[in-house]
Amino acid sequence: MDLTAVGTDVERIIVTEEELKMKVKELAARIDADYQGRDLILVGVLKGAVMAMADLARALQRHVEMDWMAVSSYGSGTKSSGVVRILKDLDRDITGREVLIVEDIVDSGLTLSWLKSNLESRGAKSVKILAILRKPEAAKVDVHCEYVGFEIPPDFVVGYGLDFNEKYRNLPFIAVLAKHMYS
Ligand code: IMP
Ligand code: MG
Repeated sequence: MDLTAVGTDVERIIVTEEELKMKVKELAARIDADYQGRDLILVGVLKGAVMAMADLARALQRHVEMDWMAVSSYGSGTKSSGVVRILKDLDRDITGREVLIVEDIVDSGLTLSWLKSNLESRGAKSVKILAILRKPEAAKVDVHCEYVGFEIPPDFVVGYGLDFNEKYRNLPFIAVLAKHMYS
């Protein structure tokens, strides 16, 4: 889906398709180097991380396992509720495994800090985080992301997996949602 298909729903593109492609390649190269000779399981957070996971996994030059979790922290609006619920758990045991969480965005950081400690408590050997986007709010919470794609302003964004009421996930770029869409 391209820009013309969404009309005035979005205000402006903040990360282009090309920039995403280059960044994912760059992150994959770092991960290849950092995890050389080590085990690696990617845990994608549904549904936002689907695009990032698919692109990252294909950019890696090594074997990886892919598993998925679905958690809920947002309602249908644009503000974090702070309540995290597991909607779908991992299929496999991660005891002793090296885990890399793949997430679309860190906003308040509530979801990720909860998820990280949840996976650590299962006895994973390591749990690290990759987030395609990070908003300024994330600096306030104590959740360290080893791999971050882009630092973005505190606007509500859509595309490349990110939705507003389940729409816009299939935009190949990241754009700021127009204010008239939710106010
Ligand atoms: P956090 O718990 O506030 O860090 O938010 C985590 C989740 O909220 C992310 O995984 C996204 O699914 C969603 N989210 C946060 N900011 C945005 C946004 O700008 N657009 C779409 N979804 C967002
Ligand atoms: Mg989400």
